[in-house]
Amino acid sequence: MPHYDTLIIGSGSAGGILAARLSEDSTHRVLLLEAGPDYTSAETLPDDLKYGFGTPSGIFSLTHDWGYSATATPTAPPIAIPRGRVIGGSSSVNATIFLRGIPDDFAQWVALGNDGWSWEAVLPYYRTIESDQDCQDDFHGSDGPIPVGRYGPSEWAEDQRAWHAACLNAGYPESPDMNRPHTTGVGPYPLNSRSRVRYSTALAYLLPARARPNLTIQGEAVVQRICFDGVRATGVAALIEGAPQEIAAGRVIVCAGAIASPQLLMLSGIGPAEHLGSLDIPVRLDSPGVGEGLRDHPATGLLWRVRPDFPANDSAHFHQVGLRYSAAGSDFFNDMIVYFGVRPAEQTLFVRPTVNYALSTGRLRLTSTDVSVQPALNYDYYSHPFDRQRQREAVRLCVKLVGDPGFAEIVRETLQHPGAALQDDDALDRWILAHADTGHHSSSTCRMGPASDPLAVVDQRGKVHGIEGLWVVDASILPETVRANINATVLMLAEKIADGLK
Ligand SMILES: Cc1cc2nc3c(=O)[nH]c(=O)nc-3n(C[C@H](O)[C@H](O)[C@H](O)COP(=O)(O)OP(=O)(O)OC[C@H]3O[C@@H](n4cnc5c(N)ncnc54)[C@H](O)[C@@H]3O)c2cc1C
Repeated sequence: MPHYDTLIIGSGSAGGILAARLSEDSTHRVLLLEAGPDYTSAETLPDDLKYGFGTPSGIFSLTHDWGYSATATPTAPPIAIPRGRVIGGSSSVNATIFLRGIPDDFAQWVALGNDGWSWEAVLPYYRTIESDQDCQDDFHGSDGPIPVGRYGPSEWAEDQRAWHAACLNAGYPESPDMNRPHTTGVGPYPLNSRSRVRYSTALAYLLPARARPNLTIQGEAVVQRICFDGVRATGVAALIEGAPQEIAAGRVIVCAGAIASPQLLMLSGIGPAEHLGSLDIPVRLDSPGVGEGLRDHPATGLLWRVRPDFPANDSAHFHQVGLRYSAAGSDFFNDMIVYFGVRPAEQTLFVRPTVNYALSTGRLRLTSTDVSVQPALNYDYYSHPFDRQRQREAVRLCVKLVGDPGFAEIVRETLQHPGAALQDDDALDRWILAHADTGHHSSSTCRMGPASDPLAVVDQRGKVHGIEGLWVVDASILPETVRANINATVLMLAEKIADGLK
């Protein structure tokens, strides 16, 4: 059995970067284990992974998905929580909106005891990951692995032009570069899917690193638990193409994402002692924060039917233009975002008002000691009254914006809409709770923080408190969500921690 210096669990947004960066040192042997299939070239990548135009509406139709389901609110039907199960992880299936967190987000991370994560400290790593095609200045990277670009006004689809005009008519400012700090309003999304191709970590980071003799990438490798000698991690037990194996390594880095990382820690005896005891899992470390503080950006979908001859454009991204704003009475800048687009094949216009800085938190718990059984996920969206208040305002705003004259030639009838409930706060709350949906940005289930914080699971470098040789680096360690789609932030975080480890 070869000796590995670093064993990485999960090849997603974070794991793909760590494997590529740590194997730049040719003397350092890296093993990357991925539960899903590995596609070893751009040519063999299936089209739905290679091309990214937005989130499909029937998310159950995603291929390469873990197929999680979750409780959104007490009254909503179970919702799907898609997560990529493939080389590149969720970066291979996501909608490619490439927005950064804002300076206020990182002030919050610092306030939670993470003084190495100020805006000034993270900005260089946001620049490292990207090669911005439109903006060349101190805020943007020009030579990173991931190309980022925006659709210009002349390329916008008819519905996107109408949305842009409606937002301006309602008084929102233009935001031509949404990745500039302190900007707000309506403008083109930065996207990491130029030339139709989705730049996942599988393409942008792992493909160029594959030939390195010191990097081994193993697909169809499901890690079942982490192995220990006392409080030192020594490797993992995994099913490799169905066959059980134990693999030793000098260092284990868990990059299995916001759902599977806390699941793996708990299956390995690191988690709330009482909960582990209820499943007869021997406790290696009582870490009450594992699985707590589940965050997301709760959304609510509004739907309209569009005219039957609305032009199909299969190669255009659904999300070309976006709106961010601060809710009335909110102290949180840019705490709201609205996703908008037409799916011509389905003749529907969707509008998804989303709380981009929600105060409600959820929880993840094991229901089985078998890694193939998903943990119970309860997001408890809108349980905080301020989240409901802001979403009521957002739903009313979106209905008003789609009432702009620019939509008269586009929209035919309402399909999912609160109707009379718009007039009454309690009725609208009930409608919002019944239609609550994920924003696809699960995070913070193994949060980063100082040892003095009883709910902190890892320190500022991603090392698990109280355990040697074990790191967690992915969306699960965000100490607090950011006011943006989180992929760019997870990539930044992986680059920064990889730099520290090197
Ligand atoms: C449908 C969808 C649309 C999205 N759209 C956007 C967007 O437009 N913009 C944006 O910024 N963000 C978006 N996101 C979110 C973003 O892509 C994720 O937050 C981010 O990719 C998470 O990165 P990660 O490294 O934490 O986890 P992941 O990228 O999910 O990686 C985890 C990896 O670990 C593997 N794994 C898990 N368990 C095991 C195990 N036991 N053994 C071995 N391997 C394991 C998984 O298969 C996976 O490859 C979207 C997500 C989804 C699902």
